[in-house]
Amino acid sequence: MNDVALFLAHAVKLEEDAARRFADLSEAMKTYGNQEVATFFGKMAEFSRLHLADARKRSAFRPIPDLQPGDYQWPDEESPEAASMEGSHYLMTVEYALELALDSERRGHAFYAGVAAATEDPEVRMMAEEFAAEEEEHVRELEAWVARHPRKG
Ligand code: ZN
Repeated sequence: MNDVALFLAHAVKLEEDAARRFADLSEAMKTYGNQEVATFFGKMAEFSRLHLADARKRSAFRPIPDLQPGDYQWPDEESPEAASMEGSHYLMTVEYALELALDSERRGHAFYAGVAAATEDPEVRMMAEEFAAEEEEHVRELEAWVARHPRKG
């Protein structure tokens, strides 16, 4: 990916999906009765929204293209942070929710790191590295939560 606006279009979609995902998980944890994890997911949703606003700001002078689902160049055909929660609400536990979140953060990181490694555009590389570093922090934070809530059995 060698175009900044195209890269930012991907970042915007990824962060939108992540923010929605964390807001969903936060609601699920409220329903489940774990306020601590619900608050943590709420905070992660807020971080994604800030990151989203940041991505939009950076592209101020370069309109972000309005991509159709088929125009995105994701490694596995779907937005990395859009891991499906379909049908899993009823069996949502704290352990499962944290694993789901960790998985989507790992894929977000892999996406940015992959772009940083493959791009020929220095500005795209710089931004992708920066975004990858941010995702790496999310991954580390989630790993710590997962370690505190190991899956039983
Ligand atoms: Zn993230």
